Amino acid sequence: MPKTAKLVFWGARGSTPTVEREAWRYGGNTSCLDLTVPGGGRFILDCGSGLRILGKQVRRANDQSPEAPGWNGMDAQVLVTHYHWDHIQGMPFFHPFFDAQNRFNFYSFRSKQLGRDSLRQVLEAQLASPYFPVDVGMMTAERHFHEISGGDAWDAHGAHITAAWLNHPQGCLGYRLDTGAGSIVYATDNEPGVRELDNNLLELAQGADALIYDAQFSPEQLATTRKGWGHSSWLEGVKIARAANVKNLILFHHDPESSSRVIDGFLYAARQEFPATWAAIEGMSLSFSENGMAVNLPESRMGRRRWVRLAATVSGQSEDGKHFEERATVRDMSLLGAYLSLSKRPLLQSELRVVIQTAGEPEGSSPLSLRATVVRCEPGRESNEHGVGVVFIEEPEPDAPQD
Ligand SMILES: [Zn+2]
Ligand SMILES: [Zn+2]
Repeated sequence: MPKTAKLVFWGARGSTPTVEREAWRYGGNTSCLDLTVPGGGRFILDCGSGLRILGKQVRRANDQSPEAPGWNGMDAQVLVTHYHWDHIQGMPFFHPFFDAQNRFNFYSFRSKQLGRDSLRQVLEAQLASPYFPVDVGMMTAERHFHEISGGDAWDAHGAHITAAWLNHPQGCLGYRLDTGAGSIVYATDNEPGVRELDNNLLELAQGADALIYDAQFSPEQLATTRKGWGHSSWLEGVKIARAANVKNLILFHHDPESSSRVIDGFLYAARQEFPATWAAIEGMSLSFSENGMAVNLPESRMGRRRWVRLAATVSGQSEDGKHFEERATVRDMSLLGAYLSLSKRPLLQSELRVVIQTAGEPEGSSPLSLRATVVRCEPGRESNEHGVGVVFIEEPEPDAPQD
């Protein structure tokens, strides 16, 4: 069995969940990731509203498991970076916490305000009357709480974990997980500019296969109106990724006010400086093995598909970073996306221009020209083809006010 580790993003937003239509492509749930390391050890990183979706996935996987009747529960390590709502608010809605056969080890720091056993208090307070209808006594899973601090390192369930203090109001921990199949650094909610804490992060991120980093604001916001809010930008992420020789940078903790197009813009700007950059999307997974990191994007082409066969001209960026333009076939289409056959393999999360010619166009009309982002790339039907799933980028309506 090849050694692999798998990291899934269940929530990629910061601050508060969002459901606005213009933000849907990156998802609306707040911070929650789930890492499975070689040997099966499982880690949950933060408990934002994305934790509820992980709970659903656990139930589904359990129902489908061949050993389901004899299944003896979920055993996971829960690493919490800090106690702001967007990192804890999923706890009351994670149904594996309400199942007596499950076991969780929780890790976080002693908050100055709460004192001893901070994380237990945070969890129990969320279920206290009158904030939640169910009493914490219903939370029957075995729970152990561990108090840690920046600078601590320990081994658990097949990973070596290191914690480091970051710069954030009321404190925040960054975590590094060294697994048999790659090293992952989770550093969210951090504002650069305090030398000692900047050095902590550089050390934590040194040579990591993936750095998941707070890119909530634009560099301009970070320098002006959002200075002191405890967050960062894609540009700071790029600087750290370069300085620490990180292999992949993943922009994370998207602002609830950022539309998908704004996040696209951050990603494209970051790729100009550091090509191995990705933007976290809810449902995205990263696989780590001796071959490096592979990115899998979620199935996001919702809506009924229509099978078509349309000639199109497609241009964009191929995996080797070069520009391409080619004649291609559109094989299916919905209002939100399309599936194309291409000879070039485009870069995931890059933008394509798809121009569809239609026969017998009435005079004065123009071909259908669509901007799209690449969400899937797989071997095509013919050996020299790639099957490419794209989601159309929302364009403002012609007479709508520009944002
Ligand atoms: Zn946050
Ligand atoms: Zn925070």
